[in-house]
Amino acid sequence: MAPVTKQYDYIVIGGGSGGSGTARRASGWYGAKTCIIDNGIPGGCCVNVGCIPKKITFNFASVNEAIEAGKHYGYKFGDSVPFDFEEFVNKRQARIKTLNGIYETNWAKEGIELIQGTATFISEHEIEVKPKDGGEAFKVTAPHISIGTGSYPTKPQGIKGSEYGITSDEFFLIKHLPKKMVFVGAGYISVELAGMMNAIGVETHMFIRGDTFLRKFDPMVQETMTKHYEELGIHVHRNHPGIKEVIQLNPGSEDGSDPREKKLKIISNDGTEMETNELLWAIGRGPEDRGLGLDKINIKRGEKGHIVVDKYQNTSVDGVYAYGDITGQAELTPVALAAGRQLANRLFGPPELKDSHLDYDRIPSVVFSHPEVGTTGLTEPQAIEKYGKENVKIYQTKFTNMYYDPFPPEEKKKQPTQMKIICQGPREEVVGLHILGKGCDEMLQGFGVAIKMGATKKDFDSCVAIHPTSAEELVTMR
Ligand code: NDP
Repeated sequence: MAPVTKQYDYIVIGGGSGGSGTARRASGWYGAKTCIIDNGIPGGCCVNVGCIPKKITFNFASVNEAIEAGKHYGYKFGDSVPFDFEEFVNKRQARIKTLNGIYETNWAKEGIELIQGTATFISEHEIEVKPKDGGEAFKVTAPHISIGTGSYPTKPQGIKGSEYGITSDEFFLIKHLPKKMVFVGAGYISVELAGMMNAIGVETHMFIRGDTFLRKFDPMVQETMTKHYEELGIHVHRNHPGIKEVIQLNPGSEDGSDPREKKLKIISNDGTEMETNELLWAIGRGPEDRGLGLDKINIKRGEKGHIVVDKYQNTSVDGVYAYGDITGQAELTPVALAAGRQLANRLFGPPELKDSHLDYDRIPSVVFSHPEVGTTGLTEPQAIEKYGKENVKIYQTKFTNMYYDPFPPEEKKKQPTQMKIICQGPREEVVGLHILGKGCDEMLQGFGVAIKMGATKKDFDSCVAIHPTSAEELVTMR
């Protein structure tokens, strides 16, 4: 067995949003001797293959949409304005590299030791590290160990040839746009990435099992957005019977950056066939436990392998904690970050913070679809189930954002903005808010604060409107 080489107050496994948040709080604020063990690139999924490259690509696609809108405002372009996707991707990568450096610098500034390697539990408080550089394995111990290794995008089991498709991880390797791309899945990732590809001219197909996508969202969002994607020209294959087999007719470039020559034949369960340049699986993510040796510590796991935690992020093993995607709780970067910080407050902070924990109620989130969707709290069906139909009052509106006023009428009417406020009880406490339309991404955060504080419809109405905006509808709705 490798000899003990180092003892810490706090070992953090995983240098993503949650791990970075908890380590920085523990070491930077409270002086705990902390290390982060990470076998990837600093920043984890969010920085490298998640939120950040996704949002930059969303912005890239939005620029293209603005150019299209410009024509309706009287700007004079040719039929299309050319772009260089490879140049864009290189710029996106440069930004990510900068962020990786910022993570490392912040960790160093705050006294956190970064150990680049793979952590494997050998007992409840002992971890063996296999260094990334191939150096000799060694052991680290600490009274407090937290796990924030996140999740990975899954491919379906049992579909012949599923390996020929990619996941969101490899999406960010693409430097040359495929002519045609198929997305399988109906959640955040499929809707976001399909929307972007369509906005920059890729023939985009979505295979969804149900009649709508975003099925965990309020019905208003599901119905309006699915229909709108069709109006945008995305081929939404509703009630798709599932894929039986994927055959590779021609490989793309080995590094995944150029799928233009890649040719896949997709055979569906109803016998229909389709050829495409690229296929992306976005059917959910699995807990990233590979190599962690969790079987060695008999830690309680959920049905899908997530680590089970209580509201304090305690696992079933004393002194071992988990947060973020590996726990399966609201798989969102800011959730992992906030839970990790609260955990460090509780473990290493002053006595008044000993009860610190994240409140998972009314967490706002945004889907960077086209247009964006913002949601917090309960959907209408959830509110009715929780409070009873007679105690729930719904306020809703739909209109067209004035940005589209110069558009031809038939184009203008295709641009939805919709808002729904869900209230419960005689005080009309706002327990859910669902908004879609241009600018909704930036709109939600402030309303999220108010709703988290228990705002009522009357509170919304007491706020003077900002005119002319879309957001003003939220404080003037009847
Ligand atoms: P999601 O869980 O959001 O959605 C996956 C969907 O794909 C399922 O809901 C299901 O929808 C469908 N699906 C599942 N299995 C299959 C299958 N075998 N064949 C076809 N369809 C299937 O997963 P994502 O991968 O989109 O995203 C993972 C998580 O990452 C999300 O939960 C989200 O929390 C987070 N995320 C957040 C973002 C943000 O905040 N903007 C952006 C990206 C990700 P159905 O049942 O309707 O078929």
